[in-house]
Amino acid sequence: MTASKNPIRTRFAPSPTGFLHIGGARTALFCWLAARATQGQFVLRIEDTDRERSTAESVQAIIDGMAWLGLDADEGPYYQSARMERYRERVDQLLAEGKAYRCYCSRERLDRLREEAMAAGEKPRYDGHCRDLQTPPEGVEPVIRFRNPDEGSVVFEDRVRGRIEISNNELDDLVIMRADGTPTYNFAVVVDDIDMEINLVIRGDDHINNTPRQINIYRALGAEVPEFAHVPMILGGDGQRLSKRHGAVSVLAWREQGYVPDALVNYLARLGWSYGDREVFSRAELIELFQIEDVNRKASRFDTEKLNWLNQHYLREGDRDQLLTELAWHMGRVGLDAVNGPALDDLLSVQADRLETLVELVDQSRPFYQDFEQFEAGAAKKHLRPVAAEPLAALRERLAGLDDWTPDALQAAVQATADDLEIGFGKIGMPLRVALMGHGQSPAINQTLWLVGRDRSLARIDQALAWIEKRVEG
Ligand code: GLU
Repeated sequence: MTASKNPIRTRFAPSPTGFLHIGGARTALFCWLAARATQGQFVLRIEDTDRERSTAESVQAIIDGMAWLGLDADEGPYYQSARMERYRERVDQLLAEGKAYRCYCSRERLDRLREEAMAAGEKPRYDGHCRDLQTPPEGVEPVIRFRNPDEGSVVFEDRVRGRIEISNNELDDLVIMRADGTPTYNFAVVVDDIDMEINLVIRGDDHINNTPRQINIYRALGAEVPEFAHVPMILGGDGQRLSKRHGAVSVLAWREQGYVPDALVNYLARLGWSYGDREVFSRAELIELFQIEDVNRKASRFDTEKLNWLNQHYLREGDRDQLLTELAWHMGRVGLDAVNGPALDDLLSVQADRLETLVELVDQSRPFYQDFEQFEAGAAKKHLRPVAAEPLAALRERLAGLDDWTPDALQAAVQATADDLEIGFGKIGMPLRVALMGHGQSPAINQTLWLVGRDRSLARIDQALAWIEKRVEG
């Protein structure tokens, strides 16, 4: 199939009944990319007709999640709850034209129909009982049903799945408005997509069975039918449907776990879309290369290792402003303040190479911003031995007189101390590391000194020397 470069006007239409989960975020990303790639528009529509399950927090979580990922909408958010009159209007039109009708069937009758169909091994469907009802029963609030065509079939060319054909006799007369006057999903979505002039509907393939029904409604309303692209679902690494069991599923939970937006965007794009075997794409490259036709038909599997690998890549080479914003957010979350230690840019330049997530990075950077009470017992016992006292003291003296507190000068100072005492670098490096960090993990020792800073380094060496002395006495 050849891809058209006509401007795509599409929408993301979440139901605000929970957070923005990873599947929804990927649908939103594909919509955003399709619009950006064709200089089209991306509309956000909140499908909140289910008043009981929709919450304001969930709307906020969706908006926040998209903002964090950088998926900006050109229009919206529109709210279905604000469009009730419009749905009523369109229902009235269909009623007047005989394309919809009032249905008074009781729950019991519908249940019985279903049971009979099941017993006969058939697919349950409404039998059209109220289609041409002459005398409606009194005191029953009817629902409105769409009069589905009896003949022919619905054919459409899905831009991911290819040609799909469903015979009309497999579709029954769908309820389009409930007795309380609220529209059902299949109706509201069509009215909106017509009014919002959507020309490509991109959504999860869990909706694929709704599409033929919706196409019939477009036609009944006298509207042009848009194109469709149904994207496959995301599975966990074990091939099961993605759920909480597989770790974080909400977009903002990925933030809390230390992933950066560009890494997640890159990862989500590749989860179902591919361009050769390339893995790393900037946003600009995605916009340039993305075509909805290139989305795979098969479900994709979530792969945390690959996400970690990409996150590592973006920590090293990603957009600096984005990294600094995220890093500051993580620092704030654990109560650390950059004014109490090295500039975040310096921190990043040292730590980004070593760690996969910002959570690890901040966790391992605590001693640069905050003093610690105690040395970790095992590390102190192993490395803060009496033999370490002399090199630590000698180094302290040299550091106190050092003019230039830079990684190079610090490297030279440690080396010179080791040379003077005719000991290996490690004999001084490990005790120094424990002295500075409280434990045995840190970046290269000169970078550690650099980040800890002069005053703190000297004070911490003193603290280590005191600890060794006490150990000797004790
Ligand atoms: N509100 C629907 C959902 O969340 C939207 C489906 C569609 O895009 O048509 O699944």
